[in-house]
Amino acid sequence: EKETTKENNVAKIKVVVRKRPLNKKELSRKEEDIVNVYDSAYLTVHEPKLKVDLTAYVEKHEFCFDAVLNEHVTNDEVYRVTVEPIIPTIFERAKATCFAYGQTGSGKTFTMQPLPLRAAEDLVRLLHQPFYRNQRFKLWLSYFEIYGGKLFDLLSDRKKLFMREDSRQQVCIVGLQEFEVSDVQIVKEFIERGNAARSTGSTGANEESSRSHAILQLVVKKHGEIKDAKRSNDGNESKTGKVVGKISFIDLAGSERGADTTDNDRQTRIEGAEINKSLLALKECIRALDNDQIHIPFRGSKLTEVLRDSFVGNSRTVMISCISPNAGSCEHTLNTLRYADRVK
Ligand code: ADP
Ligand code: MG
Repeated sequence: EKETTKENNVAKIKVVVRKRPLNKKELSRKEEDIVNVYDSAYLTVHEPKLKVDLTAYVEKHEFCFDAVLNEHVTNDEVYRVTVEPIIPTIFERAKATCFAYGQTGSGKTFTMQPLPLRAAEDLVRLLHQPFYRNQRFKLWLSYFEIYGGKLFDLLSDRKKLFMREDSRQQVCIVGLQEFEVSDVQIVKEFIERGNAARSTGSTGANEESSRSHAILQLVVKKHGEIKDAKRSNDGNESKTGKVVGKISFIDLAGSERGADTTDNDRQTRIEGAEINKSLLALKECIRALDNDQIHIPFRGSKLTEVLRDSFVGNSRTVMISCISPNAGSCEHTLNTLRYADRVK
């Protein structure tokens, strides 16, 4: 059984699988849907063992996860199952993370895009309650990308960013722009601006974004009366605030990209190796968090280094594993389910 905290009953780690519908192309090719999802899971959060069974002609594979969402489940329902339960923990100093994992085309971006917007809506509503308003809590947003092991700010012209550890071993990303958000419309604009800035690589093709991890963070800060703006020179403890809690939404690079290590193109190989490294390190860090390990192997990659404070203490992790239903994706789907199974 998954561990829960005393303050609330939100599991530290939750692994959810989402199956997308067959698309037009797959339908026109008369591809078979080989993924069977028993039960639409959003109704059964209290009954966490559900099954995905993958009938690949001869072999049959069964997996159980905390929730399994079929192709009819809406993004709103995804929000209710994954992020909504975590929202109150952010005010209890939690560092929460929501990942979308899966092969390119499996629905990661489709799944992740609406989540920060919904979360911001709920967070802003809570901030306006008298209790929090009196404590001077504010919500901040940042959006950056890890591409080829390097960090780029998606909200300031892809400015290259650097990581630094301070004396208390806190990670800060030097120069990362944070914007205060007091209403949801602004959040929407920032997300759109950031999306437009996502890497398109040398080919200019949009699919290049499948080689990068996009990280959107919503941070709740407490703002004191003392003006200590001078201390904000690293841009991370933005303005006068002290971090209370945060949630990171991560649209991971396509999981199949980690296998690009034998590609003819050198740059592609380097990026593939970096993606492979980061997805492996991520899995190890989540497992370490689940086992309450003292040593978290976050140094394994840029991605996990950036998320260092999200793997210790009061953390919440939701992994949404996105899978394609078509027979042609069978191998990748199986890999995704195995990865999710290891994390769980
Ligand atoms: P990824 O980010 O994993 O590469 P996308 O989110 O871009 O994949 O999804 C690929 C395509 O499938 C997009 O056109 C998207 O709109 C569609 N899609 C993904 N998931 C769903 C879903 N649950 N319902 C309907 N369409 C979906
Ligand atoms: Mg995508």
